[in-house]
Amino acid sequence: MGLALFDTHAHVQLSAFDADRDDTLARARIANVLGVLNVGIDVESSRAAASLAEHSDQCWATAGLHPHDADAWTGDLRAELRDIAGGPRVVAIGETGLDYYRDLTPRDMQATAFRGQIELSIDLGLPLVIHNRDATDDVLAILGDYVGVARPLLHCFGDSDDVASRAIEMGCVLGIGGTVTYPKSQALRDTVAGLPDGSFVLETDSPWLTPQCRRGKRNEPAYVVAVAEQVAELRGISVAALATTTTDAARNLFSIDAAEA
Ligand SMILES: [Zn+2]
Repeated sequence: MGLALFDTHAHVQLSAFDADRDDTLARARIANVLGVLNVGIDVESSRAAASLAEHSDQCWATAGLHPHDADAWTGDLRAELRDIAGGPRVVAIGETGLDYYRDLTPRDMQATAFRGQIELSIDLGLPLVIHNRDATDDVLAILGDYVGVARPLLHCFGDSDDVASRAIEMGCVLGIGGTVTYPKSQALRDTVAGLPDGSFVLETDSPWLTPQCRRGKRNEPAYVVAVAEQVAELRGISVAALATTTTDAARNLFSIDAAEA
């Protein structure tokens, strides 16, 4: 199979897909998107992602609490996420992180929930899916306390060259999504053109962040093809070659056998 893409960040378990979840996954399969990681944002959506993964050999799941809801972080919630993370196809903790753009919860609570989930991921030996909006300095400062032990994926990476190099040096993998196709994202395109192979993976963030060519529609995992086409063009390689390196990087990060996706 030459072309097998992996969407490392989607939310197909959410209600935006209630009307056509199976069809959405079927369209992804037809587009050669053979792996979809559905990311939990709270206990309910993490359970839904885990259950979807148990019923679809195309799907995997994460268990986490989004920074928007960080004020819900307690020992009990941690225990629930830990329980969900024990499921057979749950391969990461998150999404967690810091969001200083919407600032929906106090920043100290966001930091507490972030550190709690970093430590949970380390306990469980799992990678960590990180959301960062306007909080790069603090995200990297906190991750700096866990270099060599945490395995962070910076989802929806949108920072400069400098930050990319620092993050990769700290052991982060970068998630490149639909924003790379937006007209205003020239700096990100320049960064992505020069990233080392193996340092980044592809994602959609479905149902949000629809690539430019489908702008205005709900995003879905099949559209990771548009991200792949843009990134392959930037790097001067074929989509098939890009699919190989990015899907290998995703399997490697999430410890998924090539036979499985
Ligand atoms: Zn997300």
